[in-house]
Parts: sequence; structure tokens; C-alpha cells
Amino acid sequence: MTATLIDGKARAARLRADIATHVAPFKAATGRAPGLAVVLVGEDPASAVYVRSKGKATREAGMESFEHRLPVDTTSEALLALVRDLNVDPRVDGILVQLPLPAHIDTQAVLLAIDPDKDVDGFHPVNAGRLAIGAAGFVPCTPLGCLLLLQDIHPQLAGMEAVVIGRSNIVGKPMAQLLLQQSCTVTVTHSRTRDIAAHVRRADIVVAAVGIAQFVQGDWIKPGASVIDVGINRTETGLVGDVDFAAAQAVAGAITPVPGGVGPMTIACLIRNTYVSACRREGRPDGLGTAS
Ligand code: NAD
Repeated sequence: MTATLIDGKARAARLRADIATHVAPFKAATGRAPGLAVVLVGEDPASAVYVRSKGKATREAGMESFEHRLPVDTTSEALLALVRDLNVDPRVDGILVQLPLPAHIDTQAVLLAIDPDKDVDGFHPVNAGRLAIGAAGFVPCTPLGCLLLLQDIHPQLAGMEAVVIGRSNIVGKPMAQLLLQQSCTVTVTHSRTRDIAAHVRRADIVVAAVGIAQFVQGDWIKPGASVIDVGINRTETGLVGDVDFAAAQAVAGAITPVPGGVGPMTIACLIRNTYVSACRREGRPDGLGTAS
């Protein structure tokens, strides 16, 4: 058996096109475009690439992109002042501060300063709390993208055994919350888990967010399971995920490739969250179905 390849690139393109069709009537009704402000401090090349792609995707969806590039020696105070300005700027529906920030900046203080109702990255503790209790807020884009990919394969996730590998605040923990909300039976494994393989072997759904190249072995996968590989690891042979793709593909029912799986969904979900924020701020229904 060879697993179905989950085409995240195509799925993300559909989601972005879908949002664009909703943005047009939003503009007609409100006289403005939804706006996303992206803040980049310093010149980390990977971050610069992400910020450029986010700006491009924002404009392609018909939304406005406000890009703020600050020098590496920007003080915490100056960054906090910018965030406060963006919080009260009526044209700005979403604020994203690109991480990692330079070491001298207090990242937690900056994330806390973002208005939770403009926190389209979903990193503010208020949004983490809303997710935990099932209230409307913003869900971090990467796990939201993973959920959308899983729902395409399993419109009904209820009752499935899901194993999440990794417990970071931006991927593992919110992923586990989302799967729990879908009534999966969720196990979160991490660096101190004994015998991860044994947990993964009973999983119908595996989400790997570890950051170790090819960590998940093919013989850990239950035949027919759906495997979502969040990992992005740069190796001598190029980008690889957290799953031994070739071995897992021979056993799984469906699997995401790296690249071209989860990655493109992250930006598409950022565009989605920004549009949703704009609708909430204007008191308009977003008109999105459960598939977006
Ligand atoms: P992180 O380093 O914050 O967290 C990694 C998690 O893996 C930790 O919770 C840790 O407990 C767990 N872990 C570490 N070693 C382990 C081990 N030996 N056994 C079991 N668990 C172990 O990383 P993150 O931010 O959650 O990212 C994870 C991966 O996903 C990285 O490769 C990252 O580049 C990638 N990522 C991709 C996207 C995307 O858009 N596709 C977005 C975010 C992160």
C-alpha cells in the first residue's frame, strides 16, 4: 500500500482563493480592505523570507499589508510603542511580530502587548485560553492548517486516536487542543515520554512537531494512519520533515510531504485569520464554512 499524498500546496491555494472571494464583498460593504501588519526586527534571512511571503500572500488575497522593518538594535520600548500604535490603528486587523526576536528584546512582553483581538498568530495567552475552553479567538496558524488537512481526509474526527509528538506552545499544545475539540482521544508525547513508538503505533492520526529530521520511523506507523509532518529540518540533502517519509508512506493511509505539506497551509491560515478578524471588528459574519 502507498499512502495518499496530502497536497498542502494545492489545499493552501484553494483556501487563499476562497478568502479572496470573501474579501471582495467585504471591501464593497465596508469601503476598506482587511489589513495585516507584519513586524520584522533585524535581518535574519529565514525571517525575511517569511515576512516577504506573508506580505505577498496578503496582497494576493486583496488585503492590505503593512510591513514594518526595524533595525536589529531596536529597543523593547520602541517595539512596544509600535505594537501599541498598531493596536489602535483602525486599518489594522491583524498584527504579527515575526519570531525569533533578537535576544535583547523581551519576546513575552511584546506578545502580551498585542491586542488579543488582533493577535492573528494566536500566541497571546488570552487566545491560548480561549482555545482551551472552546471560545472564539485565534488559533495558531500551523496547527489550524494541520486540522484543515486532516478534516479533508476525515470529515468526522470524533473518536479517533490522535498522537501529537511535541508540546511547543505554537504547534504541539494548540494541535492537541484542536484535536480534543474534535473529540479525538489525544495523547501528547514529548522529549521525556517513555517509548514514543508504542504510543504512535496505536494512532489513527499522527502529528509530528519535533524538529528532528526523520525522527518518526516507518515501523511506528499503524497501517492506514494519517500522518501530518510539521517538521522543517535543513539537512545536507535538503529540507526534510520529522517523519521518515519513504518508510512511512509505505504503511500510512495518507501523509504530508515536506516541503509542500503543512508549510503552505500556515500562511494560508494567517490570511484566513486576518480576514476573520476584519469581519469581527466590523461586526460582519465571515461567511466561511467549516472547510476554511
Ligand atoms: P520546539 O523546538 O519548540 O518543540 C519541539 C518539541 O519536540 C518539544 O515540545 C519537545 O518536547 C519535543 N521533542 C524534542 N526532542 C524530542 C524527542 N527526542 N522525543 C520526543 N519529543 C521531542 O519546535 P516547534 O516550534 O514546535 O517546531 C517543531 C518543528 O516544526 C520544527 O522542525 C519547526 O521548524 C517546524 N515548524 C514548521 C512550521 C510550518 O509552518 N510548517 C511552523 C512551526 C514549526
